[in-house]
Amino acid sequence: MNDFPSDETLRQVLRRAWTSFAAGNHGIGAVVVDSDMTVVGSGRNQIFDTRGGSLTLSGSPLAHAEINALYSLGGVRAPGCTLVTSLAPCPLCVGAAAVFRISDIRYLGHDPSCDGAAAGTASGSWRLPRITHEADSSWSLWCEVLPMVSSVQRHGRDSILLRSYELSRPDLLEAVHRFADMCPLDSKGVRGISFEEARAAFWSTFSDTPATLPRV
Ligand SMILES: [Zn+2]
Repeated sequence: MNDFPSDETLRQVLRRAWTSFAAGNHGIGAVVVDSDMTVVGSGRNQIFDTRGGSLTLSGSPLAHAEINALYSLGGVRAPGCTLVTSLAPCPLCVGAAAVFRISDIRYLGHDPSCDGAAAGTASGSWRLPRITHEADSSWSLWCEVLPMVSSVQRHGRDSILLRSYELSRPDLLEAVHRFADMCPLDSKGVRGISFEEARAAFWSTFSDTPATLPRV
């Protein structure tokens, strides 16, 4: 992308930033472009707008331009795409871009409160929260496995989440598949098994079953 951003990309980002500003929001716009520099998603800051709209977030502190550009993709991740935004992205938007497998973020204006997030560090007025793993909780294994089971149900054995565990926790995989068989998923969700039954079955799939099942 030697000539990046293209005139058309720039025009769309700036136009959305203006629309945001004109509507009384922070004047920030963003687009998602694919490897051919075709705009595949767009959004603007709408934090002060009235709530509503099916493909935008509005009336919420979460309604950032970059979030709306990603949200406009309609639930489709965008590997290899680039997020172009008019102002340095905050930690929320950097994280959201990672969820959408965005490979690059380009921003036009500096924002002293967010440049740190853009650089992958905590600086300015944004402070990334301290994150602590509650390793001693008996429920941490349950909390770790439950999304893995859900991932198996929806994506089969080739899910990205599961693959990420293949090297680090191969001991979990067999139990995950057995547990997935116990909790069939249909269009209305997981049915036919109560929480109490599920947790009892869950612990029975592990050899290190606690003497007393953790209570909640
Ligand atoms: Zn943001």
